[in-house]
Amino acid sequence: MRFTEFNFHPQLLEGIEASNYETATPVQEQVIPPILEGRDVIASAQTGTGKTAAFLLPVMNRLLANHVDGQVGALIIVPTRELAIQISQHIEGLSYFTHLSSIAIYGGNDAQNFVAEKKALQMGADVIVCTPGRMIAHLNMGYVNMKGLRFLILDEADRMLDMGFQDDINKIIKALPPKRQNLLFSATMPEKIRQLAKRILQEPVEINIAISKPPEKIIQKAFLVYEPQKMPLIKKLLRETPYKNALIFCSRKQTVKQVRRELKQAGFTIEEIHSDLEQAQRESVLGAFASGRIPLMVATDILSRGIDIDTIDLVINWDVPGDGEDYVHRIGRTARAEADGVAFTLVGEKEQNKFAAIERLLEKEVEKAVVPKELGETPAYQPRSRSHSSGHSHGHGERPRRKFFRSGPRKR
Ligand code: AMP
Repeated sequence: MRFTEFNFHPQLLEGIEASNYETATPVQEQVIPPILEGRDVIASAQTGTGKTAAFLLPVMNRLLANHVDGQVGALIIVPTRELAIQISQHIEGLSYFTHLSSIAIYGGNDAQNFVAEKKALQMGADVIVCTPGRMIAHLNMGYVNMKGLRFLILDEADRMLDMGFQDDINKIIKALPPKRQNLLFSATMPEKIRQLAKRILQEPVEINIAISKPPEKIIQKAFLVYEPQKMPLIKKLLRETPYKNALIFCSRKQTVKQVRRELKQAGFTIEEIHSDLEQAQRESVLGAFASGRIPLMVATDILSRGIDIDTIDLVINWDVPGDGEDYVHRIGRTARAEADGVAFTLVGEKEQNKFAAIERLLEKEVEKAVVPKELGETPAYQPRSRSHSSGHSHGHGERPRRKFFRSGPRKR
């Protein structure tokens, strides 16, 4: 499902486009419509599924449709400051072309931030992301105004309970108006989460996104490279790895075309498949691939689901797919039936965070293979989630964290 089908506010769509999101992930497809309808939602979804945008987009859309100045519109409570920063960067990216204001409120930062936080809690901000402890510190000072709050979101609720935030959460909720829309996201659904949901949510829509794991027999390897090293590496891999049928995945069709062009020039027999091709053309290309006449094909994710060709024994991800589900579907094209399979992923320097999110989702660390020396120096594996120094790193959108803004719509 494409984002254009949700009827989002045009300014929000611009932010979605600028974030390079084209199609909704499974969790987004299921979660966005009930939130747009005003329903409470409880969803089990892990990091890497696109869950953050799944709640941010419909909430921001509703805030845009019915904007109230000088009030806190939505409150997102999260367990850690890393997650608060990450979500606030996500908000900045998606709301870039709107007038929505937002602020992250988390512990351990300086007095200047405290003043900006206090101002937002008194004078209003459309979206506030907070950790429980810091929010309680503000609540205890007596100036927090939540009268106009319309949305409460608890993210990674199971982790919050594991970290002992139950009482803090109860206290925060007591300070909120009773009439509001509630959303609860949790990777797991133990009984204590169900109890919490019972107390907070009203007739919720329940959504369960079970992530399938790839078969164990697929040999997965990742190559950490700089972007310009990808083409020489893929040529080398294709020359040195024996295969019957190899499938290369790229996230964008422009990349598919370029990769095919360059590999063809290098002498490989290769075809491409993507949404620009008519159905009949796709079928003919697929037929040639399945029969072995064309051993090598490069494709967008349209092929990552459903295609069942027993002879695919090598999958190469030219780039890291947008979510874990796509990764599982891509590499699951190999090792069908009794065959063995190998899946290589080329992880560009800027794709490390995305790849780490997929590893977390799979609960598996993918082997980092050695890149041949002649390709030169390669980047170390330093995804943000590992460094724990993310307080000042700028992931999403590559822009510094804007502490608090209330400017008019920004132009490109
Ligand atoms: P999350 O599960 O919210 O942590 O998101 C995982 C990653 O997927 C983040 O880097 C998001 O920016 C990215 N993402 C979320 N939704 C989409 C989408 N529809 N298309 C491509 N990437 C997405």
